[in-house]
Amino acid sequence: MRVYNFSAGPAVLPLEVLEKAQSEFVCFQDSGMSVMEMSHRSKAYSQIIEGTEAKLRQLMQIPDTYKVLFLQGGASLQFTMVPMNLMTGSKKADFIDTGVWSSKAIKEAKKFGKANVIASSKADTYSYIPTYKKEQFDKEADYVYICQNNTIYGTKFNTLPNTGNVPLVADLSSCILSEKMDVNRYGIIFAGAQKNLGPAGVTVVIIREDLIGRVDESIPTMLNYKTHAANDSMFNTPPTYAIYMLGLVLEWMLAQGGIEVIEKKNKEKASILYDYLDTSKLFRGTAAKEDRSLMNIPFVTGDETLDAAFVKAATAKGLVNLKGHRSVGGMRASIYNAMPIDGVKALVDFMKQFERQHE
Ligand code: PMP
Repeated sequence: MRVYNFSAGPAVLPLEVLEKAQSEFVCFQDSGMSVMEMSHRSKAYSQIIEGTEAKLRQLMQIPDTYKVLFLQGGASLQFTMVPMNLMTGSKKADFIDTGVWSSKAIKEAKKFGKANVIASSKADTYSYIPTYKKEQFDKEADYVYICQNNTIYGTKFNTLPNTGNVPLVADLSSCILSEKMDVNRYGIIFAGAQKNLGPAGVTVVIIREDLIGRVDESIPTMLNYKTHAANDSMFNTPPTYAIYMLGLVLEWMLAQGGIEVIEKKNKEKASILYDYLDTSKLFRGTAAKEDRSLMNIPFVTGDETLDAAFVKAATAKGLVNLKGHRSVGGMRASIYNAMPIDGVKALVDFMKQFERQHE
């Protein structure tokens, strides 16, 4: 029996994708072997990785002036690779601090240059996206950095900072492909796969070509974007099976009707939950309304014991992984692309029932 899995990541995958993978698990098409057993340099595998990139380019309308890389080390390694590869001019970068994940990027950047925090919402448990003025950005900075969707706090940049000629680097781990985005606005986009894209093990990096090769060759080979770009993510063995799964997820997204349809469904799902939270007398959402995420929705009752009772009772009903991140407590429903609308409806029905029982 499958449950409704509200995990923040690794997270729910489309059932159709799991079933397709299952049907090809032992023997992929006419190759006579599992994708896991294939040489990454085989013809069959080349088609898989090239097809995966082509689908991503189609879904996100990635211009030809950007490279797509499939890397390892999680989104966390990008916290290091970005400054290592980009902090090579003025050795300064501007950051907007919106939580744990941007803080980790700031901490790493400090090892390579000056990480300037333009604005932060730390004092209010990162419950909103802090405001900033255009003039605050350093025109000489090597890049401006944001974490666009904040998985733990359920906030999202609804407007991207206008950084002029300074490249914008964005961690899209928990919102990539959730709604239409203009890749041209970014210098680098990166995302760990384990939320909206597939299983853990692969990190997607979309990088504007002119940002490759800004660092000299003395940095570790594996940490240089140039190495991976020059070898089409095949400098060493890529995470072959994770990339194959990513390809199946992207195929599923295209079959759904592409990004417009997915965005519409995501907005519908999120509003079912937000509308209820806004009227409930027991539960309330913790993120500022104007900065609400479509993907991660944290909420509380205001009583920790009741929160724990709710999570326990929900789990018994097959609504699992609703416990909030350990740093904020309460509950969090992650409703990525693969979460069906019925899952959100089932959650809200259960919340209503719980509310009636605790009037
Ligand atoms: N960025 C964001 C926004 C995240 O939500 C996470 C993981 N939850 C990370 C980075 C870290 O990703 P990884 O575990 O792939 O390093």
